[in-house]
Amino acid sequence: MCKRTGIILLVSGPSGSGKTTLCRRLADEGEAVYSTSCTTRPAREGEKHGHDYHFLTREDFEKRVAADEFIEYAEVHNNLYGTLKSEVMDHIVAGTDVVMDIDVQGADLVRSCAEPSIREALVELFVMPPSEDELRARLTGRGTDADDVIELRMKNAIEEMSHWHKYTYRLISATREEDYNSFKALLSAERLRTSRITNP
Ligand code: 5GP
Repeated sequence: MCKRTGIILLVSGPSGSGKTTLCRRLADEGEAVYSTSCTTRPAREGEKHGHDYHFLTREDFEKRVAADEFIEYAEVHNNLYGTLKSEVMDHIVAGTDVVMDIDVQGADLVRSCAEPSIREALVELFVMPPSEDELRARLTGRGTDADDVIELRMKNAIEEMSHWHKYTYRLISATREEDYNSFKALLSAERLRTSRITNP
């Protein structure tokens, strides 16, 4: 039986691009494990600790930074966010694909990471909305954030979108189904790479 190493499917894009929905669906359908990040931001209504995020105090987060527990971490919208090694490393060695939803700064850090198993596993995708008007409509429509938070996210989104060219793949979002089909097609193709085969 052919064995292969797991893929790290790193997905970035502005809030409202639909990337979290794509990543979650992939995990819900059993195609990949979702890397649950740590954050110091407060939980939104309905979010569960350990599922949506590991919600930490800044002090706890900083302790984990000092203990070298993160692959990457970054300050986003005035809060810390980070990916734990424990959410990723064992899975890729075991041949399980991992999907992670992280910002452009985190992606820069993962891309420049010295660890060969991470570099070889990495597949990067940037998801973006078709227009700024569509992005604003999606951010407003979600109804979970106050106006000043939406304005901050809009400003950050426009800056964030300028980084798309650093990614190997870009998806301009259309309908949920079309986006998901493209997303899965990307994963299927990446699974066929000969460089991932460990036991030919
Ligand atoms: P939200 O607060 O809306 O859940 O996420 C805000 C931003 O933080 C999003 O762009 C999301 O991709 C990013 N993010 C979530 N987890 C991580 C992480 O572990 N590391 C980094 N660098 N960014 C993250």
